[in-house]
Amino acid sequence: MPTDCLFCKIISQEIPSPLIHQDEKCVAFADIHPKDSTHLLIVPREHIATVADATEQQEPLLGHLLVTAKKLAQQKNLKGYKLQFNVGKEGGQEVFHIHLHLIGH
Ligand code: AMP
Ligand code: ZN
Repeated sequence: MPTDCLFCKIISQEIPSPLIHQDEKCVAFADIHPKDSTHLLIVPREHIATVADATEQQEPLLGHLLVTAKKLAQQKNLKGYKLQFNVGKEGGQEVFHIHLHLIGH
């Protein structure tokens, strides 16, 4: 794991942050600057910097993030929601460890 990666540190709990969900492939926690009453980040345990770096081999992992987001949205009884990956600096990405934003109310 890159020693300077914020999300790797949250996954390992070197930086403590309550995990709303955890399984063998990913974790989810609240965004520190929420854009709506629910704003979660679904993050693979594997460090991949951006979606642009993902390979076909990682296709099931990316699918798992989407299905996990759907389940969390159902658990939270969200009527509708946004799912967003920011890709690259020009795409608004600030943390270079893939994460799926789940935003809704
Ligand atoms: P992005 O712009 O797609 O890279 O999103 C990064 C997100 O991480 C932003 O929405 C930040 O608010 C969020 N964030 C930054 N630091 C933390 C942290 N320590 N815990 C939770 N979320 C964070
Ligand atoms: Zn990382």
